Amino acid sequence: MSVSRMLSVIVPCYNEEDNLASFYEKASSVIARLCERQSISEYEFLFVDDGSADDTLAQLKKLAEKDDRVYYLSFTRNFGKEAAILAGLARSRGDYVTLMDADLQDPPELLIEMFATMDAAPGIECVAALRKNRDGEPVVRSLFASVFYKLINLLSHVEIKEGVRDFRLMTRRVVNSVLSLKEKGRFSKGLFVWAGYRTCYVEYHNVERSRGASKWSFWKLFHYSLDGITAFSVIPLQLSALLGCFCCLGSVFAILFFVIQKLTVGIPIQGYAMLVCSMFLLGGVQLLSLGIIGQYLGKVFIESKGRPDYVVLESNVL
Ligand code: UDP
Ligand code: MG
Repeated sequence: MSVSRMLSVIVPCYNEEDNLASFYEKASSVIARLCERQSISEYEFLFVDDGSADDTLAQLKKLAEKDDRVYYLSFTRNFGKEAAILAGLARSRGDYVTLMDADLQDPPELLIEMFATMDAAPGIECVAALRKNRDGEPVVRSLFASVFYKLINLLSHVEIKEGVRDFRLMTRRVVNSVLSLKEKGRFSKGLFVWAGYRTCYVEYHNVERSRGASKWSFWKLFHYSLDGITAFSVIPLQLSALLGCFCCLGSVFAILFFVIQKLTVGIPIQGYAMLVCSMFLLGGVQLLSLGIIGQYLGKVFIESKGRPDYVVLESNVL
């Protein structure tokens, strides 16, 4: 292909001093191969130092001195990977943009396959990496991840494939659509799906982190999961209404049952039974009211995100 195409490689880094040199070497050699095949003609690295406490920034400066295609930006503190992704996307210039981890867990050579997949079928605007297995990862983490994907898919309208990574190749259109979403508490995996566009997945076997340990503690992941679910679903806000309905209906049936028993068979209504029933009825009414408030709150929450109502793929009107 002879069209001139620029690629931006965004790399969020948090305490990655041990990985940067090998990442840069490996990724550059893969991109050099892509240049040979004329898939891309120009590229830039955009490293986002997410408030690292080690020598990450100094290393990035060294890389930038050596290679003028290396750009970096460094946060004042650790704002989290989502913030780093957003900063990278906002500053990227490429017609194509890829997101990659600095620890080589996102194999750079997969980029070649991603470009080939994109070129093979016109209309594909995004190619995401899908981890087929989680070998080498703590069992508890894999288990929680699996529960998380099931939950988010059950509770929200976006369908996030289990094992999908942030590692993906996107066209400028996808990046612009994702950047047009100004919401806080971002959950990129969901935002990419929300934006739509034809997406393909390339599968690969899990690669263990090159050096150092994962930057995600259990609690950090737990909060991230909650962020993901609450960013895409208002169902948790409405769950109390469902419970309230059950309580109300249950207690009304129980009261009716006791009254009918008294009227037909003549069994006297026990005081405690009535007390329990009315407690459930009152509790149910309260839960139902909370659920109704939740319904409105959910609408306010969705409005406050200010997401567009739709994204147009193509048109012949203006
Ligand atoms: N990362 C980041 N900020 C953070 C945590 C992680 O920029 O607060 C970066 C990290 O340097 C790496 C990528 O995000 O390049 C993925 O992190 P990690 O490898 O720790 O996550 P895992 O692969 O275990 O999911
Ligand atoms: Mg990793």
